[in-house]
Amino acid sequence: MQAVAKRILIAGLSHETHTFVPGKTTLAQFRTLRGDELWQADGDASCLAGGLAAARAHGWQVLPAIHMSAQPSGMVADEVIEQWWEAFAETATRESVGGIDGVWLDMHGAMVSESCPDVEGELLRRIRTLPGCKDALIGGVLDLHGNITAQMAAHSNAFVAYRRNPHTDGKAMAEFSVHLLDDLLTGGRTAVTVWERPPLILPPTATGTASAPMALLEARAREIEAAHPEILAVNVFAGFAYADVPDAGMSFTAVTTGDPEAARRELQGLSEIAMAHKQHALPTGLSLDEALDRVQRHTEGPVLIVEPADNIGGGAPGDLTVVLKGLLERGIRNVGAAIADPEAVRELWPLHPGERKRVRIGGKSGVVGAQPLELEVEMISKSDGKFTLEDPHSHMAVGGLHHDMGPTAVVRATSPQGGSATILLNSIKTAPMDLAQWRSQGINPEDFFVINIKAAVAHRQAYDPIAKASYVVNTPGPCANDLRALPFRHVRRPVYPLDEL
Ligand SMILES: [Zn+2]
Repeated sequence: MQAVAKRILIAGLSHETHTFVPGKTTLAQFRTLRGDELWQADGDASCLAGGLAAARAHGWQVLPAIHMSAQPSGMVADEVIEQWWEAFAETATRESVGGIDGVWLDMHGAMVSESCPDVEGELLRRIRTLPGCKDALIGGVLDLHGNITAQMAAHSNAFVAYRRNPHTDGKAMAEFSVHLLDDLLTGGRTAVTVWERPPLILPPTATGTASAPMALLEARAREIEAAHPEILAVNVFAGFAYADVPDAGMSFTAVTTGDPEAARRELQGLSEIAMAHKQHALPTGLSLDEALDRVQRHTEGPVLIVEPADNIGGGAPGDLTVVLKGLLERGIRNVGAAIADPEAVRELWPLHPGERKRVRIGGKSGVVGAQPLELEVEMISKSDGKFTLEDPHSHMAVGGLHHDMGPTAVVRATSPQGGSATILLNSIKTAPMDLAQWRSQGINPEDFFVINIKAAVAHRQAYDPIAKASYVVNTPGPCANDLRALPFRHVRRPVYPLDEL
């Protein structure tokens, strides 16, 4: 007898919400795929593509509902959540007639909306109330920067997290999460998710998996999995610091078919390791002056000045100019900087290559530290800003292979002190995670002496291989390294490093 195909609802909702930046993230900023449109992701580098490929390999009958994703940015408008919910509930209700075996979700885990500090937890709670979903197995994939809550764990069975930051394994972990769900369904088994957390919030700069504490925690998580066959996955969530919600910060989950208390004890061990290395939550890095001193000791580039305060992948606007200004005032030559500024692009658009104009660059977002920089610039080139990733495994690939910076102008500026910079002005902020951002504009980033990088960790996969050196600077901005400088009001207390523990 032929096995009956498992009927699985597939959906996704992905946003990392920075609650300290002004402005709302509305429907217009989301890429929305409905029903069969989800198959548009098939074959690309995204988590959704990984989920679909593995679903096909297991012969699932895919019941596509809705997938919405947007770049990290400010508070999400309630209309986004309600639109997602309406479409999901409608699909679930329709498909419940034929039975629903499972629900597979591609979620970030750190989404905050105007009226809900735990969007994923709230949606999972609601899903359980839908016809056909009460007993369905619920699993999928989450970003390791998710702020995971007790509610999320209670209303799901088998989510797994990315294990790498930079996220080179998003698609692979999505596939793994499908295998896990399929295994449970095939065996007629269920699993529960156990959740634990230490009182700890890490700034993004401390969440790379190549170094402590994440490297230690990931290694210990794999040991726990190896020692306990009934624990199907141990997930280490570094968390996302810039969401002022009760559950911001680090957490751990275990997916287990065995004794939840045994799994909980293992997770408590992870919490102890995390707290033993809590000093990583304190700011590291140099003042801008110190970093510029170091840069000037180099004779060969590229040297990276990494500016986590304006971390685009963390929700910052990518329009701060303090580093570029510092480099130009020091008379440093051959600097490369990408600044998001649609207004400057529009103003410069009529210029032909070689023409010059005085323009205010960046600093228009209104975030802490935003200050326009007035420069006379020479137009080098213009483009539509579309590019294809050169590294299909780059951190950016979780969002697909094709990216769009919007109308883009490359300009050159010099300073009276003898400094010079090539500035890539884009209309849509674009995190520095793939060198095609430059090469698509006819520029080889290897040729720069200094590159200003607006990221914390995610740039490393692309930029470390070409960098001669890399300096992290502590400058003002919405993704400031020093969490104690941020006006937290809703996070649980006490929590390190906001409180002494
Ligand atoms: Zn992430």
